[in-house]
Amino acid sequence: MVEYPNLKELYNEIMRCYRCGLCRVSCPVFKYSGTESWNARGRLILLRALSDNNLHVSDSLIDRIYSCSLCRECEVLCPPGVNVSGIIKVAREELVKNGLAPPEEQREMQKNILQAGNILGKSIQPLNTLLGPTIDSLPDSSPNLVYSGCVLLYSYTQIAQATLGNIKNAKYDYTVLKEGEKCCGGFLKMIGYREAFDSYSRIQLELFTKREINQLITVCPMCYSTFKHDYPQKLEVKHTVLLYNELLDEGKIVFNRPLNAKVAFHDSCHLGRYSGIFEEPRKLIENVPGIKLVELSKSKKSSNCCGGTIRVPYAQIRSKMSEWIIEDASQVGAEYLVTACPSCFHNLYSSSIMMDCNVKIITLEELVGYATSQLPKIPLYK
Ligand code: SF4
Ligand code: SF4
Repeated sequence: MVEYPNLKELYNEIMRCYRCGLCRVSCPVFKYSGTESWNARGRLILLRALSDNNLHVSDSLIDRIYSCSLCRECEVLCPPGVNVSGIIKVAREELVKNGLAPPEEQREMQKNILQAGNILGKSIQPLNTLLGPTIDSLPDSSPNLVYSGCVLLYSYTQIAQATLGNIKNAKYDYTVLKEGEKCCGGFLKMIGYREAFDSYSRIQLELFTKREINQLITVCPMCYSTFKHDYPQKLEVKHTVLLYNELLDEGKIVFNRPLNAKVAFHDSCHLGRYSGIFEEPRKLIENVPGIKLVELSKSKKSSNCCGGTIRVPYAQIRSKMSEWIIEDASQVGAEYLVTACPSCFHNLYSSSIMMDCNVKIITLEELVGYATSQLPKIPLYK
């Protein structure tokens, strides 16, 4: 993604919007609110007025800048290809630099990452206390480091265990940070703490260098995108979806257990629009015997965002955004909705409409675990 070192360049990018309003069709926050200032075009109009000194920073303006989920759905349809999410990020950085943002709840998130090392503010724990004694049998060093990410380590350890089981079964050489993982820091940059992110990521990089790690293998697409695109030094990063594809091609992963079901895949923003990984998860799913892959009405580049990035403080918008995805899956007749993103999984799984629909949510990690017979049964989340 293009970054803007100076505000004049940013202003020129804002001016590329010719106000056609096509982004109204795709912006999920606009769909929720029906209000132009919560749409890409409206947000750009506000930022132009701010740059022209025709507008003061107010709580409403901060709300419009922070309610954008940075999903980039608008950019897919935008005829001149305005970098809306890039502009919003820089606007947030400017507001933070001047002490005017972010909203209180996100300041808390920043404190949690910088002080505790994760967005939840939990104290860092050795991975054997979270994932069990198998961690102790891993080598102390390996060129490949599997990074589970905060959501799995602190909320869904069984999925992190499924991942490690998949990789171990394929006899792939790897280890983990046994002493405990720190958050990738991606949220710091998203909410405007650019300087804090830069120093945080340098410290993380030093740790990876000291450990002589050649490649990070991430389960979380936001970790993947952050390590790959935002860290100051290039890192070899692979999402587990890509690793599983390689292992499948090499015959090291074999799907020997069928799942006779209609399955849809939900493209997360960070794996899809941010990283261009669309076909690989579908290839894995289609290789499981018995599965009929069906597409959501909004998939691949046009997929719906689950709203996870604005969960705090816009919980209601996030809930609606997740519901639209589940409703879509139900309408196309999917029995399972698979995601390769722990955060999307959390938002979909915890949606209140899950109680009343026939769709089951699972992660790709668990589908691979089930289809290779590593997991005893298909996990059921309802
Ligand atoms: S689609 Fe692009 S050019 Fe059109 S109004 Fe939206 S941001 Fe502006
Ligand atoms: S990035 Fe997403 S939420 Fe933000 S303006 Fe574009 S479509 Fe709307």
